[in-house]
Amino acid sequence: MSVLRTLLIRAGDSRVLQRQVTSRTLNRRIAKRFVAGETLDDGLAVTRRLVAQGKTVTLDYLGESVTDAAEARAAAKACLEALDRIGAERLPAGLSVKPTQMGLKVSAELCAELLSEVAAASGRVGQHLTLDMEGSDVTEATVALVERLRGAGHADVGCAVQSYLRRTWADIERLSEAGASLRLCKGAYAEPESVAYQSRGEVDIAYAEAATYLLQHGTYPRIATHDDVLIEHVKRTARRLGKGPDDFEFQMLYGVRVSLQDALVADGWRLRVYVPFGHEWYPYFMRRLAERPANLLFFLRALRDT
Ligand SMILES: Cc1cc2nc3c(=O)[nH]c(=O)nc-3n(C[C@H](O)[C@H](O)[C@H](O)COP(=O)(O)OP(=O)(O)OC[C@H]3O[C@@H](n4cnc5c(N)ncnc54)[C@H](O)[C@@H]3O)c2cc1C
Repeated sequence: MSVLRTLLIRAGDSRVLQRQVTSRTLNRRIAKRFVAGETLDDGLAVTRRLVAQGKTVTLDYLGESVTDAAEARAAAKACLEALDRIGAERLPAGLSVKPTQMGLKVSAELCAELLSEVAAASGRVGQHLTLDMEGSDVTEATVALVERLRGAGHADVGCAVQSYLRRTWADIERLSEAGASLRLCKGAYAEPESVAYQSRGEVDIAYAEAATYLLQHGTYPRIATHDDVLIEHVKRTARRLGKGPDDFEFQMLYGVRVSLQDALVADGWRLRVYVPFGHEWYPYFMRRLAERPANLLFFLRALRDT
């Protein structure tokens, strides 16, 4: 993992920098490249536009690592409100939720209770709920939450799995056996060598192998990547296994490789866009900068030109 990437991800954890960056209107405008806006109305407006283009959506009410129960309850309330609006408008849009936003680091019981309310509401509007996968300190807890929610009857709940983690193959087998639909991504956090592959080659090989396994044995795989080589691998493997566009979906982030998103839809593939909204965009934005150095240049140029 490059030093710059690690530094940007670590800067994304800083509350002091967060306050400085998010208080400036200009920065908020720049962040809009990756974030729908600060309100649910902004998220829904982008959702309607993407749906009109033949895409589906997973909405993310931004926030993570909350430190008190009141914050966690407020986040759950915002998710319930989003699901109400999705249901009322019959939009093909589910939710992505971070367990640490629902208070996982405050109390595992509180987190399970809040996620259970969100999962029930998500089920009522007929949408899939995905638990985002965060840092490796909460991977086991997140996998256990999926098992617990599914065990309590919330059948349409799954999570993301990260190909950079050494443990992921075992998680994929464990959750696939339980019938959970999984989102496969590479992983966006700074992880040590002891738990994660560090080279791009190893991460990509693990991704390709996991995608093949999910297409063969998984439940409706959600292939989250903007990587041309892996997308071609998935299309080829699907054809070889006799799987069609209805058997899985591609997923990409709002504002990233939009022409590739359009091309997949034009070719008849299913594409779901991850659409974040809310005030807490700073850590999410920093992870997007870390993924591609050119994004950092874009950010610095925009600052210089004002
Ligand atoms: C729908 C979705 C959900 C995700 N959920 C999670 C999650 O729950 N947990 C988690 O850890 N990670 C998550 N991620 C992030 C993921 O782990 C990667 O960090 C991110 O997708 C970049 O990896 P890549 O597969 O696109 O491949 P890369 O090799 O990083 O990128 C391939 C190409 O895509 C383009 N690209 C990639 N990222 C960007 C960017 N930010 N800006 C501009 N261009 C870019 C570049 O052209 C690059 O060459 C998610 C990603 C997606 C698409």
